[in-house]
Amino acid sequence: MSFSSLGLSESLVRGLAAQNYTLPTPIQTAAIPTILRGQDVWASAPTGSGKTAAFALPILQLLSTSTRPRGRFARALILVPTRELATQIGETISRANGHLPNSLKTMVLTGGVSINPQMMALGGGADIIIATPGRLLDLIAHNAVSLSTVSILVLDEADRLLEDGFSDELDKILALLPASRQSLLFSATFPPAVQSLATNLLRDPVRHNLDAPAASATEPDILQRVIEVDAPRRTQLLRHLIEENRWSGVLVFVATKYATEHVANKLRQAGLVATALHGELSQSARRQALADFKAGDVQVLLATDLAARGIDIVRLPVVVNYDLPRSPVDYTHRIGRTGRAGETGQAISFVSASTHAHFLLIEKRQNLDLRREQIPGFEPVDTDVPVQTTGGIKGKRKSKKDKLREATTRALRRL
Ligand code: AMP
Repeated sequence: MSFSSLGLSESLVRGLAAQNYTLPTPIQTAAIPTILRGQDVWASAPTGSGKTAAFALPILQLLSTSTRPRGRFARALILVPTRELATQIGETISRANGHLPNSLKTMVLTGGVSINPQMMALGGGADIIIATPGRLLDLIAHNAVSLSTVSILVLDEADRLLEDGFSDELDKILALLPASRQSLLFSATFPPAVQSLATNLLRDPVRHNLDAPAASATEPDILQRVIEVDAPRRTQLLRHLIEENRWSGVLVFVATKYATEHVANKLRQAGLVATALHGELSQSARRQALADFKAGDVQVLLATDLAARGIDIVRLPVVVNYDLPRSPVDYTHRIGRTGRAGETGQAISFVSASTHAHFLLIEKRQNLDLRREQIPGFEPVDTDVPVQTTGGIKGKRKSKKDKLREATTRALRRL
């Protein structure tokens, strides 16, 4: 199967060849012809599957056959949960856009930067807008853009959009769109909230479910490892693994903003080039940290889930769960940062006596049964630590979530 046999124009295919995209990934093979036919799509495509190009290429082709109306109108709207994801999609679209005979006006509109330049740039409208919901609503409130002529809507990482509490904002945006349009919904997982969104939003959608393991050259190849270690020795173990394996790029997930800074400091003291990425950094500091990491100038990036969402780094060899993710879904998202687009990767989870039960729960939900490893010199000695209440502060009342986790842990211990 080639890109041109999917119905893509010669100029777009040439652009893909220039980026060394020779074969379409399974989601591209499935979704591109459907989108070109004008049908709605409901796709469960995980990050790393090539889903951005799967919707971006046909959108470019469809829009390039007509011109946009005069005024502050948009023709395609791509809604995403994070600034980083918006930027990445913008980059993917620009690369392909440059190869069209008449390139389309594409704008990335997210918060964290001043709104005025965005309002100015929106003069004359835009063909494609990639936005986070909050900033888009601000711009609409300022009359900087109208959605009344949007003919294609994409909700990317829809599960994240809903999880991040964007539900009200999403409703407001959907109410501003014309009823007659093409809608594409992409999500790594389909919890009930996403299912009901899909039911309300899509008309006769074509379902592309790529969750089922498909033997394909582009299937992410991720070696999942679980290493038992006492919690206080995790930083030393991390350093040991990085040095021994000479890893050049390691994305390390920790639970809090404080931990990103703290562990990054410790690693720097040990002579490694490490930096922190969390939601409280300014937008430019976040962009810089990511750019340095992507360029290979930073060896270890310590990130919280929020900051790392949607990051696409080709050839990221290792992801480490220094702190375990709260939910099994987050586990899938985190490990999806490595092994992208056919690359091989390792996803390592540190498990201590206090987080052992929580990891069992993640494994159970993900149908995993991973072997526990111990690294010589770092064998755990703590075997009976009180149940961890993640995020809890001593003396503070436990949250519902913490109580639930404790109950689960107790139940699993009885298994
Ligand atoms: P995505 O799932 O859209 O985040 O894409 C994951 C990565 O795969 C990105 O780095 C893309 O540049 C890359 N990619 C997407 N499509 C292809 C393809 N057909 N061949 C090779 N790489 C691809």
